Amino acid sequence: MNTKPLKATPVIGLPRRTRTAVAGRTCTHEDCNTILSVYNKSQFCYTHTRLRRPRTAR
Ligand SMILES: [Zn+2]
Repeated sequence: MNTKPLKATPVIGLPRRTRTAVAGRTCTHEDCNTILSVYNKSQFCYTHTRLRRPRTAR
């Protein structure tokens, strides 16, 4: 009897998709490189978020 030993396939852990905010984001504002906080769900930094006016002329 010649039985080949079954190779155990290594379980490769798939990289988790981060559902939370990605760290290292920067402010979407053009000349702003402020790194957003992980807890900041806005696309803008704190300063530019406040600078946004309710009235936007489009
Ligand atoms: Zn900004």
